[in-house]
Amino acid sequence: MSKFKHGVASGKLVQEIFEDAKINKYALPAVNVTSSSTVNAVLETAAELNSPIIIQFSNGGCHFFSGKGLNNNNHKATILGGISGAMHVHQLAESYGATVILHTDHCSRKNLPWLDGLISESQKWFNLHAKPLYSSHMIDLSDEPIEDNIKTCVEYLKVLSKIDMTLEIELGITGGEEDGVDNTDIESNKLYTQPQEVAYAYEELIKVSNKFTIAAAFGNVHGVYKPGNVKLTPKILLNSQKFVHEKFSTKNSMPIDFVFHGGSGSSVDEIREAISYGAIKMNIDTDLQWGFTIGTRNYFSSKQDYLKSQIGNPQGDDIPNKKYYDPRVWLREGEITFKERLTKCFTDLNNVNRNR
Ligand SMILES: [Zn+2]
Repeated sequence: MSKFKHGVASGKLVQEIFEDAKINKYALPAVNVTSSSTVNAVLETAAELNSPIIIQFSNGGCHFFSGKGLNNNNHKATILGGISGAMHVHQLAESYGATVILHTDHCSRKNLPWLDGLISESQKWFNLHAKPLYSSHMIDLSDEPIEDNIKTCVEYLKVLSKIDMTLEIELGITGGEEDGVDNTDIESNKLYTQPQEVAYAYEELIKVSNKFTIAAAFGNVHGVYKPGNVKLTPKILLNSQKFVHEKFSTKNSMPIDFVFHGGSGSSVDEIREAISYGAIKMNIDTDLQWGFTIGTRNYFSSKQDYLKSQIGNPQGDDIPNKKYYDPRVWLREGEITFKERLTKCFTDLNNVNRNR
């Protein structure tokens, strides 16, 4: 018996998983996927480690899933790619024995039509299957004044909460560069969220639903940089929890479900500290891109004499090389090293055997 039902989670189960994580001091890796190959590698790892996982598609990841050759006029390719990728996860998650929260990553204001397309598909699913296509979406309007950011997020939360979905919002800006958004030159004070901002967002969102999470900035950046270039201050999360708890006399001493963006390159101590302050989700993209590439790179360099032509290798001039150049062989090598890196991530997040 597993604690959390296998398959794609929605509704109350999502908050129950986050609550379990907070109580038992672990967090879920939120893995950016781009292909059936990476989705399958995530499902395989989550099932082997018997722990819940978040699979997320970015806007660019959705476009890659539908195929870069499909034109994206009116967000068509990113909407179709998001639907196609999500259906792939629904089709397989239960068979693998994985409990999955299915999510989309950063959505800026200009990409809201992409989200609208996916939400409309979730509404159809909800009518047909009594559950949405996605468990949750993220809206990132952190580059706008907080009033505008929260006003829009409240409107979306009203829509999402009717179909058992959760919303992730962002306050303060994650530095660095990801998925074509470059925040490398942002003023440094914007990289640290204030407790008052968290309280304002909490006050407005909780009027609608408790199904929300907050990505707060505490010096985190997207991408991996030389040690010393990133000054993380997870204490910001603790200060915000205390502030909200006291201001609204919440029952829970840590009322906020925090999300840790830009986790790649962080030390285990920093990760565990953030978890102890209520971070229940850590996004991981860059380190897993590297993980996948290592396996394929090692394969190509060790097999180069077998990949020069279709026929002929060091074993003989007439020997066919088909079994070496079949893309399934080198993609699998990438999946294996991706899985190794993801396993380390689950371990760092203290999330092993949590689904018993
Ligand atoms: Zn992010």
